[in-house]
Amino acid sequence: MAVPQNRTTRSRRNMRRSHDALVAANPNECPNCGELKRPHHVCGACGHYADREVVAMTTEVDLDEDAA
Ligand SMILES: [Zn+2]
Repeated sequence: MAVPQNRTTRSRRNMRRSHDALVAANPNECPNCGELKRPHHVCGACGHYADREVVAMTTEVDLDEDAA
């Protein structure tokens, strides 16, 4: 197993971790339904992108019908 030859100093460790911070999401409002969505992504709530429906959304799934 490889073993580090030199101890990583607090300074080196912290410099490495300076790029590890998470950045906050920057959601946009969907122009169709008003739900918050990721920019440049299809709306997860209504399936619209740039004012047109690109993903067909099922309105309701009847669970009783599938079980029978
Ligand atoms: Zn939407």
